[in-house]
Amino acid sequence: MSLNPKTYEESLERAARYAEKRKAKLAERQHSKPRFGRFRALQTAGDVLPPEGGNGIPDALNASRTKPHRRRRPLRPRRYNTNPTVDGDSLRAVKDECDTLVRSVIALRDEQCVTCPAREELHVGHLFRRGHEHVRYDLRNVSAQCDPCNSRHNEHPEFYIERFVMTHGEQAYADLRAEAHKRGKLSYVEMLAIRDELRQTLVEMTANAASR
Ligand SMILES: [Zn+2]
Repeated sequence: MSLNPKTYEESLERAARYAEKRKAKLAERQHSKPRFGRFRALQTAGDVLPPEGGNGIPDALNASRTKPHRRRRPLRPRRYNTNPTVDGDSLRAVKDECDTLVRSVIALRDEQCVTCPAREELHVGHLFRRGHEHVRYDLRNVSAQCDPCNSRHNEHPEFYIERFVMTHGEQAYADLRAEAHKRGKLSYVEMLAIRDELRQTLVEMTANAASR
């Protein structure tokens, strides 16, 4: 059973091949004709011959650029919602809260990395990646996982899969997989239901942990 038939070596090879190709393309472009935009600008700038020893662009054209290139503003991470939501809040805010709730539940439930004996610095590890929205907040699909195991999971999901099948069985894995590959997105109402269920679970688990 393999989700990702690529091996690590194969993907390294592919990356190297791609880098080769890209280098060749860039080298070729250096020797090719000016691109269309500049070519047309040269025509419309009139019959101004490029000065000897210049940069090959007529003075008229160099002078026409009065403003320096505008720098692109660096991307900033969006603000993450840390407050409990009420019905009517944005879908994004509700999803943020669900992520937080999942994190809290996992922190109470799991004490050890799902794929190794690590007990420190654990994060939420998704068996089917977070992009699979239908199982993103499904507590079967998430476990505590350490950073190295979490990074390895991209290329080698087999460790986590094996662990899951050992604990829950083949059938549970098949069910979860089917759920993960469902089409469509979760609706707003479905998200609210998931949020409420997670809140309930967290309340129960916190009470259990306190009584122990
Ligand atoms: Zn680990």
